Amino acid sequence: MTPLRAIRRHCLWCANNQAQEVNLCPATRCPLNPYRSGKMPDIENPSPLGAIRKRCLDCVGGSFQDVSGCTTQSCTLHLFRFGKNPNYGEKMRTRAKALTRHPARKVPGEIAIERSKPEPR
Ligand code: SF4
Ligand code: SF4
Repeated sequence: MTPLRAIRRHCLWCANNQAQEVNLCPATRCPLNPYRSGKMPDIENPSPLGAIRKRCLDCVGGSFQDVSGCTTQSCTLHLFRFGKNPNYGEKMRTRAKALTRHPARKVPGEIAIERSKPEPR
């Protein structure tokens, strides 16, 4: 299970398993809204895990302790409620963060343009 898949399933549960209802969900204040399709949205700094963390805090009225103590294991967000992906260890997470911070990752379009420039004669 990935965070995005967990969000998609949570949204389907929320919308009584009606995919159309999920697509049309008007709850723009719900932190999961941009991720409800189960795909990474084209927004600045997307963070499905951050959205799950916020959703969990909403769910329990803002108490970090209650999120930590949540016993609803049937909830698809449960594994990710701390805002971390349990599928990865600390070493992998640090590496992934370093990769996303690399300047070349931020402007892939510019690199492609640079490479496609014709050689001067
Ligand atoms: S975005 Fe929020 S309100 Fe909308 S379907 Fe998902 S969980 Fe429910
Ligand atoms: S994991 Fe627990 S706190 Fe988070 S949304 Fe589900 S029931 Fe609420």
